[in-house]
Amino acid sequence: MNRVLVVGSINMDLVNHVDEFPLPGETIHGRGVDYLPGGKGANQAVAAARAGGDVRMVGAVGDDTFGQQLLASLRNSGVGTESVAVKQGTSGLAFITVSGSGENQIILSAGSNGRLTPEDVPAERLASADWVLLQNEIPWAVNRHVLEQCRGLGAKVMYNPAPARPIEADAYPLIDVIVVNETEAETLTGIEVGNREDAEAAARELLRRGVRCVIVTLGAKGSLCLGGEGESFFTPAFSVTPVDTTAAGDTFIGAFAAACANGTPSSEALRFASAAAALAVGRKGAQSSIPERGDIVRLLEADAAAN
Ligand code: ADP
Repeated sequence: MNRVLVVGSINMDLVNHVDEFPLPGETIHGRGVDYLPGGKGANQAVAAARAGGDVRMVGAVGDDTFGQQLLASLRNSGVGTESVAVKQGTSGLAFITVSGSGENQIILSAGSNGRLTPEDVPAERLASADWVLLQNEIPWAVNRHVLEQCRGLGAKVMYNPAPARPIEADAYPLIDVIVVNETEAETLTGIEVGNREDAEAAARELLRRGVRCVIVTLGAKGSLCLGGEGESFFTPAFSVTPVDTTAAGDTFIGAFAAACANGTPSSEALRFASAAAALAVGRKGAQSSIPERGDIVRLLEADAAAN
Protein backbone atom coordinates (compact mmCIF):
# COMPACT_ATOMS: atom_id res chain seq x y z
CA MET A 1 0.00 0.00 0.00
CA ASN A 2 1.30 3.45 -0.92
CA ARG A 3 1.44 6.31 1.52
CA VAL A 4 -0.71 9.43 1.59
CA LEU A 5 0.60 12.52 3.39
CA VAL A 6 -1.71 15.45 4.06
CA VAL A 7 -0.01 18.79 4.78
CA GLY A 8 -2.76 21.11 5.94
CA SER A 9 -5.10 22.66 8.45
CA ILE A 10 -6.51 21.19 11.66
CA ASN A 11 -9.40 23.05 13.33
CA MET A 12 -11.88 22.69 16.13
CA ASP A 13 -15.32 23.92 15.05
CA LEU A 14 -17.18 25.43 18.02
CA VAL A 15 -20.80 25.35 16.92
CA ASN A 16 -23.19 27.47 18.99
CA HIS A 17 -26.92 26.96 18.35
CA VAL A 18 -29.21 29.98 18.92
CA ASP A 19 -32.82 30.86 18.12
CA GLU A 20 -31.80 34.23 16.64
CA PHE A 21 -28.43 35.93 16.20
CA PRO A 22 -27.69 38.51 18.95
CA LEU A 23 -27.58 42.16 17.96
CA PRO A 24 -24.35 44.10 18.65
CA GLY A 25 -24.17 44.69 22.42
CA GLU A 26 -26.92 42.12 23.17
CA THR A 27 -26.51 39.05 25.44
CA ILE A 28 -28.65 36.00 24.70
CA HIS A 29 -28.93 32.39 25.87
CA GLY A 30 -27.78 29.74 23.42
CA ARG A 31 -29.38 26.31 22.90
CA GLY A 32 -26.14 24.34 23.28
CA VAL A 33 -22.66 23.95 21.84
CA ASP A 34 -20.97 21.21 19.79
CA TYR A 35 -17.18 20.73 19.55
CA LEU A 36 -16.55 19.24 16.11
CA PRO A 37 -13.07 18.50 14.72
CA GLY A 38 -12.62 20.01 11.25
CA GLY A 39 -10.26 21.90 8.96
CA LYS A 40 -9.87 20.95 5.30
CA GLY A 41 -6.53 19.20 5.83
CA ALA A 42 -7.80 17.09 8.72
CA ASN A 43 -11.07 16.31 6.91
CA GLN A 44 -9.20 15.07 3.83
CA ALA A 45 -6.83 13.01 5.99
CA VAL A 46 -9.76 11.39 7.82
CA ALA A 47 -11.54 10.72 4.51
CA ALA A 48 -8.43 9.06 3.04
CA ALA A 49 -7.83 6.93 6.16
CA ARG A 50 -11.48 5.78 6.41
CA ALA A 51 -11.40 4.96 2.68
CA GLY A 52 -8.53 2.53 3.30
CA GLY A 53 -5.45 4.71 2.81
CA ASP A 54 -2.20 4.60 4.80
CA VAL A 55 -2.35 8.23 5.92
CA ARG A 56 -0.14 10.61 7.88
CA MET A 57 -0.65 14.27 8.60
CA VAL A 58 1.72 17.23 8.84
CA GLY A 59 0.26 20.36 10.43
CA ALA A 60 0.08 22.13 13.76
CA VAL A 61 -2.22 22.27 16.76
CA GLY A 62 -1.95 24.67 19.70
CA ASP A 63 -0.90 23.91 23.28
CA ASP A 64 -4.46 24.74 24.41
CA THR A 65 -6.97 22.06 25.50
CA PHE A 66 -8.24 21.65 21.92
CA GLY A 67 -4.82 20.61 20.58
CA GLN A 68 -4.79 17.21 22.30
CA GLN A 69 -8.44 16.56 21.44
CA LEU A 70 -7.73 17.27 17.77
CA LEU A 71 -4.76 14.89 17.76
CA ALA A 72 -6.80 12.14 19.46
CA SER A 73 -9.62 12.59 16.96
CA LEU A 74 -7.23 12.20 14.00
CA ARG A 75 -5.68 9.09 15.55
CA ASN A 76 -9.13 7.58 16.20
CA SER A 77 -9.79 7.78 12.47
CA GLY A 78 -6.49 6.03 11.71
CA VAL A 79 -4.41 9.09 10.74
CA GLY A 80 -0.75 9.09 11.86
CA THR A 81 -0.02 12.28 13.86
CA GLU A 82 3.71 11.83 14.68
CA SER A 83 4.55 14.84 12.51
CA VAL A 84 1.89 17.23 13.75
CA ALA A 85 3.62 20.04 15.64
CA VAL A 86 2.29 21.38 18.93
CA LYS A 87 2.77 25.16 18.92
CA GLN A 88 2.48 27.69 21.69
CA GLY A 89 -0.90 29.45 21.62
CA THR A 90 -4.34 28.57 20.33
CA SER A 91 -5.32 25.81 17.90
CA GLY A 92 -7.13 26.67 14.67
CA LEU A 93 -10.70 27.50 15.65
CA ALA A 94 -13.92 28.15 13.76
CA PHE A 95 -16.56 29.97 15.82
CA ILE A 96 -19.83 29.02 14.14
CA THR A 97 -23.24 30.29 15.20
CA VAL A 98 -26.25 28.54 13.68
CA SER A 99 -29.66 30.22 13.99
CA GLY A 100 -33.01 28.49 14.33
CA SER A 101 -33.68 29.09 10.63
CA GLY A 102 -30.41 27.31 9.69
CA GLU A 103 -28.38 30.41 8.73
CA ASN A 104 -24.81 30.56 9.99
CA GLN A 105 -22.20 33.14 10.94
CA ILE A 106 -18.57 31.98 11.02
CA ILE A 107 -15.44 33.58 12.45
CA LEU A 108 -12.25 31.73 11.56
CA SER A 109 -9.16 31.99 13.74
CA ALA A 110 -6.17 30.41 11.97
CA GLY A 111 -4.31 29.88 15.29
CA SER A 112 -1.55 27.29 14.95
CA ASN A 113 -2.41 26.66 11.25
CA GLY A 114 -1.23 30.21 10.52
CA ARG A 115 2.02 29.59 12.41
CA LEU A 116 3.02 26.52 10.37
CA THR A 117 6.38 27.04 8.59
CA PRO A 118 8.32 25.11 5.92
CA GLU A 119 10.65 23.89 8.73
CA ASP A 120 7.66 22.07 10.29
CA VAL A 121 7.48 19.74 7.26
CA PRO A 122 9.92 16.85 7.91
CA ALA A 123 11.92 16.07 4.75
CA GLU A 124 11.74 12.33 5.50
CA ARG A 125 7.93 12.44 5.52
CA LEU A 126 7.89 13.93 2.03
CA ALA A 127 10.51 11.40 0.92
CA SER A 128 8.42 8.42 2.07
CA ALA A 129 5.09 9.70 0.68
CA ASP A 130 3.63 8.58 -2.65
CA TRP A 131 0.79 11.12 -2.70
CA VAL A 132 0.85 14.51 -0.94
CA LEU A 133 -2.39 16.48 -0.43
CA LEU A 134 -2.41 20.28 -0.05
CA GLN A 135 -5.20 22.86 0.45
CA ASN A 136 -5.19 26.64 1.13
CA GLU A 137 -5.75 26.88 4.90
CA ILE A 138 -2.04 27.07 5.85
CA PRO A 139 0.51 29.73 4.78
CA TRP A 140 1.23 29.59 1.03
CA ALA A 141 5.00 29.51 1.80
CA VAL A 142 4.50 26.00 3.24
CA ASN A 143 2.54 24.79 0.20
CA ARG A 144 5.15 26.28 -2.13
CA HIS A 145 7.95 24.53 -0.21
CA VAL A 146 6.13 21.17 -0.40
CA LEU A 147 5.46 21.59 -4.14
CA GLU A 148 9.15 22.32 -4.82
CA GLN A 149 10.45 19.50 -2.61
CA CYS A 150 8.08 16.89 -4.05
CA ARG A 151 9.21 17.54 -7.62
CA GLY A 152 12.71 16.35 -6.72
CA LEU A 153 11.46 13.37 -4.70
CA GLY A 154 8.90 11.82 -7.02
CA ALA A 155 5.89 12.13 -4.70
CA LYS A 156 2.75 13.20 -6.59
CA VAL A 157 0.97 16.32 -5.35
CA MET A 158 -2.81 16.71 -5.31
CA TYR A 159 -3.73 20.35 -4.65
CA ASN A 160 -7.18 21.63 -3.66
CA PRO A 161 -7.05 25.47 -3.80
CA ALA A 162 -9.71 26.03 -1.13
CA PRO A 163 -10.44 28.71 -0.06
CA ALA A 164 -9.70 29.89 -3.61
CA ARG A 165 -7.01 32.46 -4.34
CA PRO A 166 -4.74 32.98 -7.33
CA ILE A 167 -1.26 31.39 -7.25
CA GLU A 168 1.98 32.23 -9.10
CA ALA A 169 2.25 31.06 -12.72
CA ASP A 170 5.39 29.02 -11.98
CA ALA A 171 3.61 26.96 -9.30
CA TYR A 172 1.20 25.28 -11.76
CA PRO A 173 3.80 22.98 -13.38
CA LEU A 174 4.61 21.62 -9.89
CA ILE A 175 1.06 20.28 -9.44
CA ASP A 176 0.22 16.73 -10.54
CA VAL A 177 -3.53 16.83 -9.86
CA ILE A 178 -5.59 19.94 -9.10
CA VAL A 179 -9.10 19.41 -7.72
CA VAL A 180 -11.43 22.43 -7.95
CA ASN A 181 -15.13 22.98 -7.39
CA GLU A 182 -17.10 25.44 -9.55
CA THR A 183 -16.13 28.54 -7.51
CA GLU A 184 -12.47 27.60 -7.27
CA ALA A 185 -12.32 26.88 -11.02
CA GLU A 186 -13.72 30.35 -11.72
CA THR A 187 -11.39 32.17 -9.29
CA LEU A 188 -8.34 30.53 -10.84
CA THR A 189 -9.30 30.73 -14.52
CA GLY A 190 -11.87 33.56 -14.76
CA ILE A 191 -14.20 31.11 -16.56
CA GLU A 192 -17.64 30.88 -14.98
CA VAL A 193 -18.39 27.19 -14.40
CA GLY A 194 -21.96 25.90 -14.21
CA ASN A 195 -21.97 22.84 -16.44
CA ARG A 196 -19.77 20.18 -18.04
CA GLU A 197 -18.76 22.34 -21.05
CA ASP A 198 -17.63 25.24 -18.80
CA ALA A 199 -15.78 22.75 -16.59
CA GLU A 200 -13.98 21.41 -19.65
CA ALA A 201 -12.95 24.94 -20.72
CA ALA A 202 -11.64 25.75 -17.21
CA ALA A 203 -9.82 22.40 -17.06
CA ARG A 204 -8.13 23.04 -20.44
CA GLU A 205 -6.93 26.42 -19.15
CA LEU A 206 -5.41 24.80 -16.05
CA LEU A 207 -3.73 22.13 -18.21
CA ARG A 208 -2.35 24.93 -20.41
CA ARG A 209 -0.79 26.49 -17.29
CA GLY A 210 1.15 23.25 -16.67
CA VAL A 211 -0.92 21.11 -14.27
CA ARG A 212 -0.79 17.41 -15.27
CA CYS A 213 -4.38 16.48 -14.45
CA VAL A 214 -7.47 18.53 -13.56
CA ILE A 215 -10.60 17.38 -11.73
CA VAL A 216 -13.56 19.77 -11.63
CA THR A 217 -16.28 18.77 -9.15
CA LEU A 218 -19.79 19.95 -10.03
CA GLY A 219 -21.79 19.05 -6.90
CA ALA A 220 -24.84 16.90 -7.72
CA LYS A 221 -23.88 17.14 -11.42
CA GLY A 222 -20.79 14.93 -10.88
CA SER A 223 -17.16 15.53 -11.78
CA LEU A 224 -14.94 15.91 -14.82
CA CYS A 225 -11.34 14.72 -15.06
CA LEU A 226 -9.01 15.89 -17.83
CA GLY A 227 -5.46 14.58 -18.20
CA GLY A 228 -2.54 16.05 -20.08
CA GLU A 229 -2.44 13.11 -22.50
CA GLY A 230 -5.95 13.87 -23.72
CA GLU A 231 -7.78 11.42 -21.47
CA SER A 232 -11.13 12.70 -20.20
CA PHE A 233 -13.70 11.07 -17.91
CA PHE A 234 -17.01 12.37 -16.72
CA THR A 235 -18.27 10.68 -13.55
CA PRO A 236 -21.93 11.27 -12.68
CA ALA A 237 -22.79 11.85 -9.01
CA PHE A 238 -24.61 9.08 -7.15
CA SER A 239 -28.23 9.85 -6.50
CA VAL A 240 -28.83 10.72 -2.82
CA THR A 241 -31.19 12.93 -0.86
CA PRO A 242 -28.85 15.67 0.32
CA VAL A 243 -28.87 16.13 4.09
CA ASP A 244 -25.71 18.21 4.57
CA THR A 245 -23.18 18.93 1.82
CA THR A 246 -20.46 20.04 4.28
CA ALA A 247 -17.20 18.19 3.55
CA ALA A 248 -18.45 16.69 0.24
CA GLY A 249 -15.35 17.97 -1.56
CA ASP A 250 -12.98 16.94 1.26
CA THR A 251 -14.47 13.42 1.29
CA PHE A 252 -14.20 13.18 -2.50
CA ILE A 253 -10.52 14.24 -2.44
CA GLY A 254 -9.50 12.02 0.49
CA ALA A 255 -11.21 8.94 -0.98
CA PHE A 256 -9.78 9.62 -4.44
CA ALA A 257 -6.24 9.94 -3.02
CA ALA A 258 -6.61 6.72 -1.00
CA ALA A 259 -7.85 4.82 -4.07
CA CYS A 260 -5.05 6.19 -6.30
CA ALA A 261 -2.43 5.35 -3.66
CA ASN A 262 -3.80 1.80 -3.49
CA GLY A 263 -3.26 1.41 -7.23
CA THR A 264 -6.84 1.86 -8.46
CA PRO A 265 -7.03 3.19 -12.05
CA SER A 266 -8.23 6.83 -12.29
CA SER A 267 -11.71 6.21 -13.72
CA GLU A 268 -12.48 3.64 -11.01
CA ALA A 269 -10.95 5.87 -8.31
CA LEU A 270 -13.28 8.69 -9.41
CA ARG A 271 -16.34 6.44 -9.02
CA PHE A 272 -15.06 5.39 -5.59
CA ALA A 273 -14.60 9.07 -4.63
CA SER A 274 -18.07 10.00 -5.92
CA ALA A 275 -19.64 7.18 -3.90
CA ALA A 276 -17.78 8.32 -0.76
CA ALA A 277 -18.87 11.95 -1.28
CA ALA A 278 -22.51 10.94 -1.91
CA LEU A 279 -22.54 9.03 1.39
CA ALA A 280 -21.14 12.13 3.17
CA VAL A 281 -23.83 14.32 1.56
CA GLY A 282 -26.52 11.93 2.81
CA ARG A 283 -25.40 12.35 6.45
CA LYS A 284 -25.27 15.33 8.81
CA GLY A 285 -21.96 16.88 9.93
CA ALA A 286 -18.45 17.26 8.54
CA GLN A 287 -15.96 14.65 9.80
CA SER A 288 -18.79 12.66 11.40
CA SER A 289 -20.37 12.21 7.94
CA ILE A 290 -17.24 10.77 6.26
CA PRO A 291 -17.82 7.09 5.39
CA GLU A 292 -15.68 4.00 5.99
CA ARG A 293 -14.38 1.89 3.08
CA GLY A 294 -16.93 -0.89 3.69
CA ASP A 295 -19.85 1.55 3.21
CA ILE A 296 -18.31 2.92 0.00
CA VAL A 297 -17.77 -0.58 -1.45
CA ARG A 298 -21.36 -1.57 -0.55
CA LEU A 299 -22.77 1.49 -2.37
CA LEU A 300 -20.64 0.73 -5.45
CA GLU A 301 -21.80 -2.92 -5.43
CA ALA A 302 -25.47 -1.94 -4.99
CA ASP A 303 -25.14 0.54 -7.87
CA ALA A 304 -23.48 -2.06 -10.12
CA ALA A 305 -26.21 -4.60 -9.32
CA ALA A 306 -28.95 -2.03 -10.13
CA ASN A 307 -27.48 -1.11 -13.53
P1 ADP B 1 -17.31 21.17 -2.59
O1 ADP B 1 -17.88 20.48 -1.39
O2 ADP B 1 -15.83 21.33 -2.54
O3 ADP B 1 -18.03 22.43 -3.00
P2 ADP B 1 -18.79 19.74 -4.70
O4 ADP B 1 -20.04 20.38 -4.18
O5 ADP B 1 -18.46 19.95 -6.13
O6 ADP B 1 -17.51 20.14 -3.83
O7 ADP B 1 -18.92 18.17 -4.41
C1 ADP B 1 -17.85 17.27 -4.59
C2 ADP B 1 -18.38 15.94 -5.07
O8 ADP B 1 -19.30 15.43 -4.09
C3 ADP B 1 -19.19 16.00 -6.36
O9 ADP B 1 -18.35 15.88 -7.52
C4 ADP B 1 -20.11 14.77 -6.21
O10 ADP B 1 -19.42 13.57 -6.56
C5 ADP B 1 -20.37 14.75 -4.71
N1 ADP B 1 -21.63 15.48 -4.41
C6 ADP B 1 -21.77 16.78 -4.02
N2 ADP B 1 -23.07 17.12 -3.87
C7 ADP B 1 -23.78 15.99 -4.15
C8 ADP B 1 -25.19 15.64 -4.17
N3 ADP B 1 -26.14 16.56 -3.87
N4 ADP B 1 -25.53 14.38 -4.52
C9 ADP B 1 -24.59 13.44 -4.82
N5 ADP B 1 -23.26 13.69 -4.80
C10 ADP B 1 -22.85 14.94 -4.49
